[in-house]
Amino acid sequence: MALDRNLKMGMVGGGPGAFIGEVHRKASRMDGGVQLVAGAFDINPEKSKQQGKELILDPNRVYGTYKEMIEAELRLPEGERIDFVSITTPNNWHFPIARDFLEAGFNVMCEKPMTFNVEEAKELQKIVKKTKKVFGLMHNYTGYPMVKLARDMARGGELGKIRKIVVQYPQGWLSTALEKTGSMQASWRTDPKQSGGAGCIGDIGTHAENLSEYITGLKIAKLCADLSIFVKGRKLDDDGNILLRFNNGASGVLHASQISVGEENNLAIWIYGEQKGLEWHQEDPNYLYVKDQNAPTQVWKRGNGYVAAKSAAAVRATRLPSGHPEAFFEAFANIYRNFTDTIRANLTNTKPDPLMLDFPNVNDGLRGMQFIETVLESTKSKEKWTEFKK
Ligand code: NAD
Repeated sequence: MALDRNLKMGMVGGGPGAFIGEVHRKASRMDGGVQLVAGAFDINPEKSKQQGKELILDPNRVYGTYKEMIEAELRLPEGERIDFVSITTPNNWHFPIARDFLEAGFNVMCEKPMTFNVEEAKELQKIVKKTKKVFGLMHNYTGYPMVKLARDMARGGELGKIRKIVVQYPQGWLSTALEKTGSMQASWRTDPKQSGGAGCIGDIGTHAENLSEYITGLKIAKLCADLSIFVKGRKLDDDGNILLRFNNGASGVLHASQISVGEENNLAIWIYGEQKGLEWHQEDPNYLYVKDQNAPTQVWKRGNGYVAAKSAAAVRATRLPSGHPEAFFEAFANIYRNFTDTIRANLTNTKPDPLMLDFPNVNDGLRGMQFIETVLESTKSKEKWTEFKK
C-alpha cells in the first residue's frame, strides 16, 4: 500500500546565505511527496527565525536550536511530526545532531563528511543499526544516471578485470586566503575545529574516494599520500596527491585540490579494465565515454534506449528526454528519491525495491572517515604506504 500523505521534512543548517541547505530543499521536493515543515536553520536563533519566515513555515515549527526541535517535534502526533531531518551544517555538528535525531526515532539525511573522526563514525554506525532508522549520506555524485550506467558496466564485468583508476577533484576557489575576507563557506572549511583533521581531502577528496568505490565495487586497501598547504597561514591541507592500491590489486591515483587556479568543480574519473575503459566528467555529466583499444571511443548519452537496456538504475535516475541537460539538482533529487522511498516502504511495512536502496549510507560515511584518517597518517609517515584504517 502506498503512503497517502507527504513525508514531512525538517532541516538543521541552511540559514541565510548558506550554500547546500537550499540545494537540499529544492532537490527534496523535485518529485513531490516531501514537504519541509520544520527547521533549526542557523547557529544564530534569530537567523533561523528569519530563514523560516522566508520559507513561509509555521513559526511554531522554526526553532532556535536542533535540541529544541527534537523536543517539540516529539510532542506532535506521528504523521504530523517530521519523518526525517536533513543535516546541512558544517562538519563538526554532523555527529551530535545525527545521533540525537536517530535516538529520538527520526530518519536522517546527512551531509558529508559524515562525522568529525572515525570514532564518531563507528558510533553512528552502531546507532543506525540499533535504531533501525533510515540513514542517507549526501555523496550526490553517485546520483547521476551516467555514473549508475558506469557502475553497472564496471561491476557487470564489461571492462574486464579493473587494473587502473584515476580520479580527480580540482577546484581553485581557495587559491587565495578567502577565509580572511568574511566568506562563511571558506572560514569554517579552513578551521580545524569545524572542518576536522583535513581540509580539501575531507571536503572533496572524500567525494572522489566514494565515487571510485561506488562505480567499481572495489575497496581502497592502502594508499600513499602527499598533502600540502599552499596558502600562507592556513592550518589545513588545500591540495593533495594520493597513490592508491585497491583490494583486487588495481592501482590508482586520486588528486584533490582547492588551489588549482581556474578550476571549478572538475571532478572526473577514468577506469581502465583489461578490455575496456570508462571516462566521466561531472561538469559534462550526461555523457559517458567507453574506450576500446581496437575500436573508436563510444559516447553513451543519457536518456537513450541503449542506456535503458543496460541500466535500470540509470533509467530510474533520468527525468528528461535526452539532450535536455540534467545535472546537480537532479543528482541530489535522485539520492532523495531513493532515501524517501525507503522511508515510505518502512512506514507501510513493505520491502524496499533494491533500486530504492541505491543511496549512500552510514557504511559509506565510515569509509570516508577512514579514508581521511589514513591519508593524514600516510602524509605524516616516513613509510608512506599505509594500510586503509579499520
Ligand atoms: P555554509 O557555511 O554555507 O552553511 C552552513 C549553515 O549551517 C549556516 O546557515 C550555519 O548558520 C548553519 N549552522 C551551523 N551550525 C549550526 C547548528 N548547530 N544548528 C543549526 N544550524 C547551524 O556551509 P555549506 O557550504 O552549505 O556546507 C554545509 C555542509 O554541507 C558541510 O558539511 C559541507 O561539507 C557539505 N557540503 C556538501 C556538498 C555536496 O556536494 N554534497 C556541497 C557543499 C557542502
